[in-house]
Amino acid sequence: MASVPSDIPAIRAALLDWYDVHGRTLPWRAGPGASARTDPYRVWLSEVMLQQTTVPHAAPYFLSFLQRWPTVGALAAAPDAEVMAAWAGLGYYARARNLLACARAVTADHGGVFPDTEAGLLALPGVGAYTAAAVAAIVFDRPANVVDGNVERVMARLFAVETPLPAAKPGLKRLAATLVTDDRPGDWAQALMDLGATVCRPGTPLCDVCPLTDHCAAFAGATPERYPLKTAKADRPRRFGTAYALFDDRGRVALVRRPDKGLLGGMLGLPTSDWQPMPAEAVPPVAADWAAAGTITHVFTHFALTLEVRTATGSGDFVWTAPEQALADLPTVFRKALGLAVGGAVTPRRSSAALRS
Ligand code: SF4
Repeated sequence: MASVPSDIPAIRAALLDWYDVHGRTLPWRAGPGASARTDPYRVWLSEVMLQQTTVPHAAPYFLSFLQRWPTVGALAAAPDAEVMAAWAGLGYYARARNLLACARAVTADHGGVFPDTEAGLLALPGVGAYTAAAVAAIVFDRPANVVDGNVERVMARLFAVETPLPAAKPGLKRLAATLVTDDRPGDWAQALMDLGATVCRPGTPLCDVCPLTDHCAAFAGATPERYPLKTAKADRPRRFGTAYALFDDRGRVALVRRPDKGLLGGMLGLPTSDWQPMPAEAVPPVAADWAAAGTITHVFTHFALTLEVRTATGSGDFVWTAPEQALADLPTVFRKALGLAVGGAVTPRRSSAALRS
């Protein structure tokens, strides 16, 4: 592992100067400077959303949540099903459940006011080390060490770390900690995030516009894209199943609510078979003249799913919903399956054209 950097003040000054000019404008930001701190609810909400998706994808969801539930108290009072439906498309629904649990704890136990320390934030339900550090730094200007994948990549390149990920993670976090001081910690955290997202990008970094070239070991060695080193990953496991698009004589589609526990827990979706490691013949939810519509694939965090989609007309005890409504509200995997069944392409839920990445 690389030794502790000796030119910390110069690295910090170069990056903070760059951030003052090139920091991103984002919907949850108030801008550079300790006097421009923003609402903890906004930062917390954005950080939870950003843990699993990109800024362009998360931003429309963020704005929609904020319009619908403008305060943590409003979110805490929202029905679970409405929040889960609004989260659909962001994936990883356990985060939505944790989001609600946290909002309710802040409202019930803290009078609607977020704790202002990293330790206090970490004690909230569903708030992990990264989110606690990010909110503490960005909102309360605490000298917290905020390390995500972007920051790990910058550290690995800046110090030419030869240990591959994931084993390198603790060392990269220690290196990042050496650069955190009491001076502008919130801006520092955001400056590193911005550098990782826009300049020291995955793949080929834009070293010719980077403020840290004078200090960067990977740049000096002319091999920045070599870092971070990665241990070869096993292929993502694959599962198979069948999704059933059943339409009634009014053209509505049959939906079922999934069990609270497990993947997509508590969400509405098309009826499906179990998702198995090998393709298997499945039993439809009702007897009908089922026809094959094709297959869709969807990649979850821990596996890739191939679903055969079958369609039929019939009746039964389901949540009957207009297909247009279902295509707007369902989790992405079911939107793909229903889109195939109705013969239409599944388009992005909301436009992100106006947002900067
Ligand atoms: Fe990343 Fe290049 Fe900047 Fe080094 S010089 S931190 S590799 S963008």
